[in-house]
Amino acid sequence: MYDFLLRSEEVSLREKAREFVSKVPRELLLDMDEDKIQYPTDFVRNLAEEGLLGLRFPKEYGGQDASWVAEMAVLEEIGHLSLALGCLYSLPSICGEALNHFGTKEQKERFLRPILKGDLFCAEALTEPRGGSDFFGAATVAEKQGDHYVLTGQKRFVVGAIGADIFLVYARTSSDPDIPRQQQISLFVVERDENVKVKYTYGLMGTRGGGAGRLVFDKVRVPAENLVGNEGDGGKIFYQMMYPERMTSAAGILGMADASLRIATRYSSKRKAFGRPIRAFQGVSFKIAEGITLLDSARAMVYMAAKALDEYQDQPALCRRLVSEAKRVATEQCYRVIDLALQVMGGIGYTNVYPIERFFRDARLSTIWTGTSEIMNLIIQHEYYKEVLDAKRFQRDTELDAKEAFASEEKVFE
Ligand SMILES: Cc1cc2nc3c(=O)[nH]c(=O)nc-3n(C[C@H](O)[C@H](O)[C@H](O)COP(=O)(O)OP(=O)(O)OC[C@H]3O[C@@H](n4cnc5c(N)ncnc54)[C@H](O)[C@@H]3O)c2cc1C
Repeated sequence: MYDFLLRSEEVSLREKAREFVSKVPRELLLDMDEDKIQYPTDFVRNLAEEGLLGLRFPKEYGGQDASWVAEMAVLEEIGHLSLALGCLYSLPSICGEALNHFGTKEQKERFLRPILKGDLFCAEALTEPRGGSDFFGAATVAEKQGDHYVLTGQKRFVVGAIGADIFLVYARTSSDPDIPRQQQISLFVVERDENVKVKYTYGLMGTRGGGAGRLVFDKVRVPAENLVGNEGDGGKIFYQMMYPERMTSAAGILGMADASLRIATRYSSKRKAFGRPIRAFQGVSFKIAEGITLLDSARAMVYMAAKALDEYQDQPALCRRLVSEAKRVATEQCYRVIDLALQVMGGIGYTNVYPIERFFRDARLSTIWTGTSEIMNLIIQHEYYKEVLDAKRFQRDTELDAKEAFASEEKVFE
């Protein structure tokens, strides 16, 4: 229906994803929701076999040289399954972003290629128990000792703590107060060994089955060749990695909102109250109208941001703002769409006879992880203030289009 947003090759990839999604066994979703399965590697391997993983990366390393728009269209389809499976689909895109942009040829061969082939499973370890929002305050330390680093610290809520083979870990390589905070951090590929310990696994409200846990890095020996980029490049890499981190949260939830709204729309056409199908009551049908309007505006924002990433990455401030807007708008609005769908269903929507209660539990996470809505607002206002206040050219000074515009003594600011 929204094919006009896509080029023909993007439609083909979306179709492939749609077919893939139609064949995923429902037992997988249900078993993950019951925590019977953690980090289903077969699912990721099957995606790789279909050539759907890491679409944006070069063919040379197993990607498809596809656009951001294509990846978002594919993820929207995968999002119809669950938030956890959307996340497992996204991890190669997120971790791959750092490796593809900043990794050496050898790192791409050792890590990126096998990740995209479904032979190596990756996770990102950013958040620490002391707080995720203040990322650059990270306390995990990596100390250089000859040809390796010794990495010590903890990361919390890591999806893939159970299940992943390698972790992208940000650690402090300097505490020099004269160096900006962003440059005190570096990124490492940490391969799982006996000093990488899963100390706690979380009981989650939803989004289960991703193997989320707290990792303790107990003096882990990391070869110097596993440093991504240079020492102190952590900030630069983090900003680049946050594009897929936030875009995947934004696009994945479109699928769950779409699924919920379709279920509620069909239900309200069949379910009767007071002798009429409930859709005949505006109190019901207007919820569907509200839902599809919120969903489509979220969708528009996601594809606009994806297009910016395809064409305007030389304008990082604009990309950062649009990606943050897309993340906030899509996650907040789609959560609301799922809530509206649940309301339309009445009591049965609150039960596991329909999957909307699962979507609802899953969706609640999306305004929290990959940067909270509050942190998105911090970025959005920061970039927008800068943009407006630094604007060199503005077509028309609309401030003067008021009758008393020149009453300068009335324009008081202090
Ligand atoms: C199920 C799950 C899976 C996750 N997966 C991963 C993963 O795979 N890898 C990973 O690294 N992390 C992961 N996370 C972590 C997630 O990204 C963090 O929880 C999130 O960034 C918030 O960090 P925090 O929980 O420490 O909250 P805090 O940073 O302590 O924030 C608490 C509250 O304060 C608000 N706040 C903080 N600072 C400000 C400010 N300056 N202005 C306004 N409000 C502010 C926040 O918005 C929030 O509401 C996951 C989390 C969960 C729950």
